[in-house]
Amino acid sequence: MLIGDAAGYNNPLIGQGLALALRDVRTVSEQLLSNRAWDVGTFAAYGTERGERLRRMRYVAQLYATVSTTFGPEGRQLRRYLHKRQRDDPDLLAPTMAIFTGPDHLDPQICTETFRRHYLGLPS
Ligand SMILES: Cc1cc2nc3c(=O)[nH]c(=O)nc-3n(C[C@H](O)[C@H](O)[C@H](O)COP(=O)(O)OP(=O)(O)OC[C@H]3O[C@@H](n4cnc5c(N)ncnc54)[C@H](O)[C@@H]3O)c2cc1C
Repeated sequence: MLIGDAAGYNNPLIGQGLALALRDVRTVSEQLLSNRAWDVGTFAAYGTERGERLRRMRYVAQLYATVSTTFGPEGRQLRRYLHKRQRDDPDLLAPTMAIFTGPDHLDPQICTETFRRHYLGLPS
């Protein structure tokens, strides 16, 4: 049974590592306390939920990294273009908001290649 960074590590850029680890502790301890018999099946739901939670947070971290660590004129242009569009399109704020509200409140449709291209202003 793996929890925390050992269960799947996220880029620390968005500061979610402790939240991920503490959620793991809560989920796994609840499973242990609510089942008398422990076997592999006891943790199946945790494994599925953990995988999706990390997928979403990794997606957000990757987007955030692209926007904040693309340097030079290209990076400045990307940030200027994104911030301008975010004023008119609230969907483009969703990845940033997920850093504060957590993966549960992030629409899974946001975590797609289609949305990534839209977010970065790339041709679809
Ligand atoms: C530069 C950086 C900045 C970060 N900033 C943030 C942030 O702002 N906010 C945030 O939420 N998260 C942040 N994180 C991520 C966060 O630190 C981790 O996600 C979190 O500490 C994971 O907790 P953990 O208990 O899984 O692992 P760890 O905190 O790494 O704990 C594992 C422990 O196991 C010990 N250990 C390893 N092997 C053995 C062994 N064989 N025997 C005994 N002990 C062993 C290690 O010494 C360590 O103490 C950051 C990470 C980095 C690297």
